[in-house]
Amino acid sequence: MMSKPFEKIVADPSTNTGEDEKFTSDDEMYMTQALELAKKAAILGEVPVGAIIVANGQIIGQGWNLRETNHCALEHAEIMAIKEASIKTNAWRLIGAKLYVTLEPCLMCAGAIYQSRVPHVIYGAADPKGGACGSLYKIHEDTRLNHRFLVQKGLLAEECAELLKRFFRQRRLSSASKDSNDSDPAE
Ligand SMILES: [Zn+2]
Repeated sequence: MMSKPFEKIVADPSTNTGEDEKFTSDDEMYMTQALELAKKAAILGEVPVGAIIVANGQIIGQGWNLRETNHCALEHAEIMAIKEASIKTNAWRLIGAKLYVTLEPCLMCAGAIYQSRVPHVIYGAADPKGGACGSLYKIHEDTRLNHRFLVQKGLLAEECAELLKRFFRQRRLSSASKDSNDSDPAE
């Protein structure tokens, strides 16, 4: 299970415990669940991205991309999960929470993670075209901001990227899409 070494980003070296963190079996379990949520999005014709927020060993928020369904650019998986977690915990600060997401957060979602004070994010596939947690921007380690968060990347990355690739491949084949601006982040 843990045979592959995963690359990681340490958000702020001063907050790093110095331990060589690796993904746990719980991390894999939660990312697998986030992948299941991403598949729900795909069934709806949405770009398949899923997110889960865990605190104290319990899932407190789940979300999947609903941008097309709800005709709203804000409805990314992470935002939906943060909304649910905030309602469930009755708090805007998600202290002690871990957010799992199948694709590297975009600028908006990295901003929402920052705003909600989520301390730890684990993502699957990198997004070289829009990622704000390592690829294009490093919001999580920007010292100008008053909150930084730890980011670990690459958990089940192949599965997460493959789901996206399959979705975009099928969509190109069907050519039913009207949104030509929406390109595959995993390519
Ligand atoms: Zn986003």
